[in-house]
Amino acid sequence: MRVLVVEDDPMIGRAVVAGLRHGGYAVDWVRDGGEAALAIANGVYELALLDLGLPRRDGLEILKNVRRGGGKLPILIITARDSVADRIAGLDAGADDYLVKPFNLEELLARVRAVLRRHEGRGCPEMTYGALTVDPVGHRVFFQGAEVDLSAREFAVLEALMKEPGAVVSRERLEDAVYGWGEEVESNSIEVHLHHLRRKLKPQLIRNVRGVGYRIARIV
Ligand code: CA
Repeated sequence: MRVLVVEDDPMIGRAVVAGLRHGGYAVDWVRDGGEAALAIANGVYELALLDLGLPRRDGLEILKNVRRGGGKLPILIITARDSVADRIAGLDAGADDYLVKPFNLEELLARVRAVLRRHEGRGCPEMTYGALTVDPVGHRVFFQGAEVDLSAREFAVLEALMKEPGAVVSRERLEDAVYGWGEEVESNSIEVHLHHLRRKLKPQLIRNVRGVGYRIARIV
């Protein structure tokens, strides 16, 4: 799951990005309002964390623009503006939630999960293929009736493969699902995650389609 962080404060930005990555999200970080509007228009994110006081363009203006254009991207405001009037303005402009700085990182992650749950609650949040079930919001995996414990990166790889079960997913797409911009990607890291997934689940579950990518096999 890919998350956009819009935050110009380097210390807060670093902490939020690290916390989200630790929580298993692929994270991109932009530091001003102009870049934020472009990144959101890209349409690759499942959620954005949006600061309001930003260079070049105010966060509230960005949010209003997204909603005016019909954009449904879940947006959680993170800001130091803590008056009731500010909160009301943010929520009325279409924010899904509003968190005042300084905040606790665990609370931020819980709010992120809650926003994602509300958005996915409209459809079926779980993905099932054969005996494999992946719950993207709860970050849980079940195989043949038992819960399987995965690392955050392993989970991100499996989730990307399960978006279109049975379809071949390229290695680049898997890397996009696991790593944010500027994150160091070691050349064989996806293979390492796949190796662990096969060991924890079942070796035949993930097939290598030579020269193209990987796909999930249906195992009951
Ligand atoms: Ca700011």
